[in-house]
Amino acid sequence: MTLEQIFATRAARLKASEIRELLKLLDQPDILSFAGGIPDPSLFPAEAFAQAFAEALTPSRQAQALQYSISEGYLPLRRWLAAHMGTLGVPCGTDNILITSGSQQALDYLGKLFLSPGDTALVGWPTYLGALAAFNAYEPEYDRLRIGSNRSAADYMAQAEVAGGRVKMAYLSADFANPTGETVDRAGREQLLDQAEAMDCAVIEDAAYQALRYDGDPVPPILALEIARKGSVEACRTIYCGSFSKTLSPGLRVGWVVASQAVIRQLVLMKQAADLHSSSINQIAIHSVAERLFDSHVASLRAVYQRRRDAMLDGLARHMPDGVTWTRPEGGMFVWLTLPTGLDGADLLARSLETVKVAFVPGRAFFADGSGANSLRLSFSCASESMIEDGMKRLGALLRDAQAG
Ligand code: PMP
Repeated sequence: MTLEQIFATRAARLKASEIRELLKLLDQPDILSFAGGIPDPSLFPAEAFAQAFAEALTPSRQAQALQYSISEGYLPLRRWLAAHMGTLGVPCGTDNILITSGSQQALDYLGKLFLSPGDTALVGWPTYLGALAAFNAYEPEYDRLRIGSNRSAADYMAQAEVAGGRVKMAYLSADFANPTGETVDRAGREQLLDQAEAMDCAVIEDAAYQALRYDGDPVPPILALEIARKGSVEACRTIYCGSFSKTLSPGLRVGWVVASQAVIRQLVLMKQAADLHSSSINQIAIHSVAERLFDSHVASLRAVYQRRRDAMLDGLARHMPDGVTWTRPEGGMFVWLTLPTGLDGADLLARSLETVKVAFVPGRAFFADGSGANSLRLSFSCASESMIEDGMKRLGALLRDAQAG
């Protein structure tokens, strides 16, 4: 008997992410990469962090910075976040906030909290791959979340029963989603809340990219719309997952959850059991940097990423052959391409790396059912405008060639 034979059943649902495996291959200097969905490291507020860490390690503060701390998270950071959420239309107190090690940890805990084997999670088709990876360990079924279609709550519930469970959550990134870059408008968010009400399920609002809007009018968070209906976060079924990864630093692993105290209390117990608390010194540093420069820093990030987004949309318009369509994101880091049926993103990537040397992520990995072969994700966050123009030209040539046979 090998140890593999006695792994728990959930281990069978965990598989290496195609994307992460792929990213390892792309570290070659001659490749123009639009694959990684990560912030541009040259834009990190490194000096402000150097100062914040130095201050945290002064003799009067080092005991707090290097010591264990409470599972809920560093109180001054939760106070800053409560005020920040207030500006987004989400009035809440520090007891409604849990600090997590990135929003990825929040997704894991929420899977653990809501999903028994056979329960259904409604997700986008496509959706964030890391959410599928986090939820998979809890052995759910997936069904396609369709906002604004005539698919009724009763249809969803009937399908979940056939699968042997019930609909427990609708997960979505409503602003500039990964991978599509698309935003759900206000009417769509209201419809989603109506559907969730009818199904009596949680709404997991993944707000990882929310601060990165380049144009168009901001749409209130789903949680803000639900609070407007119900009067208080305590009555809400929406659970908001925020992150400092795309604004200040992903490496420090600081994110947060906003929800009713009943949900936060349960998540705190999970955090105690899993890792006790997120890094004390990282929370202190994030708080100090956020307090000093969050708004001005985010404004400067927006200006840079907006130019790159514009360069990508211009390049696509100039170089893509007929039959290829793409999204026009108002923020975030991604543009999503749909290719004529019959073309396969994974085959194209292999061909691209050999010929035009442009990297992207084939779309299939983002679909819970493995469909979506004729799609791909491009990220503009780490490329200069001239690289983007060059890259779209090469990609256009590749696709023209592929269409010709
Ligand atoms: N949600 C989405 C939609 C993401 O794209 C990411 C990171 N790529 C995360 C959550 C996780 O981010 P973090 O754990 O760094 O906050």
